[in-house]
Amino acid sequence: MPRGVVPRHPAQTGRQDKVRVARTRMSGNPSQKQSSRAKAAPVKTKTVALSKPTKPAKSAKGYNPVAPERVAEILKRLNDLYPDVTCALTHKSAWELLVATILSAQSTDVNVNRVTPVLFQKYPTVEAFAALTPEELEPDVRSTGFFRNKSKSVVGAAKKIVADFGGQVPDDIDKLLILPGVARKTANVVLGTWFKKAVGVVVDTHVHRISRRLELTKENDPQKIEQDLMKIIPQDRWILFSHQVIWHGRKLCFARKPNCVECLLENICHAGDKAWSTVEMHKNAVG
Ligand code: SF4
Repeated sequence: MPRGVVPRHPAQTGRQDKVRVARTRMSGNPSQKQSSRAKAAPVKTKTVALSKPTKPAKSAKGYNPVAPERVAEILKRLNDLYPDVTCALTHKSAWELLVATILSAQSTDVNVNRVTPVLFQKYPTVEAFAALTPEELEPDVRSTGFFRNKSKSVVGAAKKIVADFGGQVPDDIDKLLILPGVARKTANVVLGTWFKKAVGVVVDTHVHRISRRLELTKENDPQKIEQDLMKIIPQDRWILFSHQVIWHGRKLCFARKPNCVECLLENICHAGDKAWSTVEMHKNAVG
């Protein structure tokens, strides 16, 4: 019977050896519960029957988590799970996306998407933001958290774009990085999503966590993680990979209690903080 249909039970040891015993004791079907939750999510994902479990790794010797064939398999399965995803921040221009991305720090996309339509109705152009003081903007972005810093960044970026770039958001990473409040993550979001330029890989909290769990990096610093990912992922996948991993973090690979039972990557994921596993877990591969 295909995996993903048959209810399974976490092997405490991280191995497959107790699964058969556990199956006989189970009465519910966790995958059905998860499927109903997935239907309520805003993005279409394919329901894919999981392939047969791989054998547990016999030994760490010879295992290369960034071997091209393993990376290719991860990319393929992400494609199967999230074939058509993009940025979840509502926007109609590069400027709106830039503002939304600045506001999304330490906040949720849902929260930002509640704030920005009102914000852009009140201040419809870059010039309108540039005419503000940070204090004037603070009440409008307060609910996204860290509102004083975010107000300073948004107003500062608007003033710089008007003064130096003729009111147009630049499509160049070096120019974006000199804008207040814009670091590589924000610059990569704007370049990838709006300008369709694959200059880097967006490393947000989801990409950070999942890249470590999948052993695509051992780093903790976002810039070093991005460098690692850029080395092993083909450039024409950088933009989509970021979107797919971000959606994976929202829908299945949660920071706490990831939904490994439903995850198509399960039998090639050796994360040490998996909630359930059919393969050997690697204690250092934690998000
Ligand atoms: S198996 Fe679990 S930890 Fe690994 S990627 Fe899937 S949800 Fe995340």
